[in-house]
Amino acid sequence: MPIEPRESYKAEFELRRRDVETASGKVSISYVVCAPLEDAGFLNAFSTRAGGVSPLPSGSLNLAEFNGDTAENVLENRRCFLSAINAERANLITARQTHSTDRYRIESRTQPGNVGPDCDAMTTRLTGVMLGIQTADCLPILIGDTKTKTMAAVHAGWRGTAGRITERTVADLIQGYGVDPRNCIAALGPAACVECYEVGQDVIGLYKKEFGYWRNLIVNVQENGKAHLDITSANVQQLAFCGFSPDRIHVAPYCTMHQNDLFFSYRRENSSRPLGVGRLLSVISLR
Ligand SMILES: [Zn+2]
Repeated sequence: MPIEPRESYKAEFELRRRDVETASGKVSISYVVCAPLEDAGFLNAFSTRAGGVSPLPSGSLNLAEFNGDTAENVLENRRCFLSAINAERANLITARQTHSTDRYRIESRTQPGNVGPDCDAMTTRLTGVMLGIQTADCLPILIGDTKTKTMAAVHAGWRGTAGRITERTVADLIQGYGVDPRNCIAALGPAACVECYEVGQDVIGLYKKEFGYWRNLIVNVQENGKAHLDITSANVQQLAFCGFSPDRIHVAPYCTMHQNDLFFSYRRENSSRPLGVGRLLSVISLR
């Protein structure tokens, strides 16, 4: 049994829906917003799978390029998503994510092709820039500093979390931008929950070695050597360790695997989708 029930987190998220016009008719786009982050002046949204033009299966809102979908579909899906969240003109920057702990500071509004270099977290204080993280079960984290208006977007899977990518990104905010973590708001988006996220001996061993508090993260150890990883608790812990106020760490009450009808799940779908699994997009920018 999970020792940190999800109900223990503050859940201040809204599922919203908007119709968007396309060449072939109206599509209905659903997305999740962290209200406290929005109230602090940060436009933010976590996408769902519904309402796009990708065949994953038909009508899917795949928001990242991979070899199972066309660039044209992704472009149209991104247009629809950005339109739904009132950010048609946003300069969206996404990264080539590699499950690393590499971070990148965005200092120009004109990144080539709107793609950052290979990295798994981005930071910026630029207005007119939207940071985007692509996931399907991994945890997307959006951070906004209420004082300096600095932003971060983090991709935290089991590998990046073990490498403390969230702690490293907050360190970048402190050292590179003069941010005080006590002024920051964090929104942890839809990801695979602890009940669904099964891991093997390699991951269990890594977490035992890396975290003194691993018993809070690796739970439900079974006789076959498998266990469950609480990727959300792990990153809540890292934010708290960095000085985030617990009441400013907001966890979306959604699981990509439990709610596979609403979200893409790599773990749930990978073996059954010949074209591959679509990707969700989590975005943050200054309003
Ligand atoms: Zn779940």
